[in-house]
Amino acid sequence: MYQLKLICIAIVLSGLVSCNQTAEKKNTSQPVAETETDTVQNDFKYWTWITASSKKTDESYKEEFTKYSSNGIDAVLINTNTDPELLKRLTPIAENAGLEVHAWIMAMNRPGDGVALQHPDWYAVSRDGKSCFDTRPYVDYYQWLCPTRKASREHVLDLVEGLAKVEGIASVHLDYIRYPDIFLPVGLLPKYDLKQETELPEFDFCYCDVCVAEFEKIHHKNPRDFKNPAIDMEWKQFRLNKIKAVVDDAYKIAHQYDKKLTAAVFPYPEMADHMVRQRWDKWNIDMVLPMIYHNFYNEETDWIGYATAQGVKDLEGKGVELHTGIFLPDMPTDEVAQAIQLAKDNGAKGISFFDGNAITEEHFKVIKVFKE
Ligand SMILES: [Zn+2]
Repeated sequence: MYQLKLICIAIVLSGLVSCNQTAEKKNTSQPVAETETDTVQNDFKYWTWITASSKKTDESYKEEFTKYSSNGIDAVLINTNTDPELLKRLTPIAENAGLEVHAWIMAMNRPGDGVALQHPDWYAVSRDGKSCFDTRPYVDYYQWLCPTRKASREHVLDLVEGLAKVEGIASVHLDYIRYPDIFLPVGLLPKYDLKQETELPEFDFCYCDVCVAEFEKIHHKNPRDFKNPAIDMEWKQFRLNKIKAVVDDAYKIAHQYDKKLTAAVFPYPEMADHMVRQRWDKWNIDMVLPMIYHNFYNEETDWIGYATAQGVKDLEGKGVELHTGIFLPDMPTDEVAQAIQLAKDNGAKGISFFDGNAITEEHFKVIKVFKE
């Protein structure tokens, strides 16, 4: 099938003939078992992440959503900056265009959050004692909240509830549901002129009074006294559990409104654990969309298959679907075709593209060939 698709893509891209005819011819001689596999493959879902603006008109959204659906995209993950009103406006437009809608929220990283900014103590504190309220790691939009404090986690969960209430959405989609990167993707380090060979204090969170006190109560040791906090397993586990607790509460809220919970996560569980203290194979969640952005990690295309398989294996028997996430900008069409095939071959239930604006006409042609 892979060979056939690649040939089809080559033909379609060169504009010679419709690939449909080739596929149909092939199917007529297929044994039953293989036809069934093809049917299953048609359930493979195509998604894209988009960021919405209240300034754009309904008409322009109708046009954008129709472009996606007519080119084989099944679902959109819409970032409305956690604005339920904008989501209420856009959801019927997307649905009418034939798309499934997911409400994308930046969960623990809340840049410019007007409510949170009134509470400087809600923000995560680094090992060197600086708060994300005024000292932001890496980039100005890194304004992380503490996942332990009652008020900050309840604020995030209230926002989840606001989105979950919106009629017609399929899921609330958690993004930035983790700690700030203790290790950045290797491919991004030169951009920040950084070397990260150990866990550096300015990127290590959260050492706020509430986190430290709660940890001390359970484990009778203070993380601020650790000579090398990276090797203290309880301290690592404490933080993995804190993120899991937010997710598990968000799951209850989403389900209370008959919505699913989905999340954008790091490539596979151990890698997510190592880089951002995120262990998503242990969460109560319906679907995960790992951001398998091979270009961020200086990996080759086949790594998309490796990371997909790794996550699928870890989720076995848990009833959680995995949909591979791809970083599209500058990705050549043949690589996009390979990525789709690798996701399919390694057990993903779909593929999501970051982001909608980056999908070119040539990319759409590739997707359409797979859908035929
Ligand atoms: Zn804290």
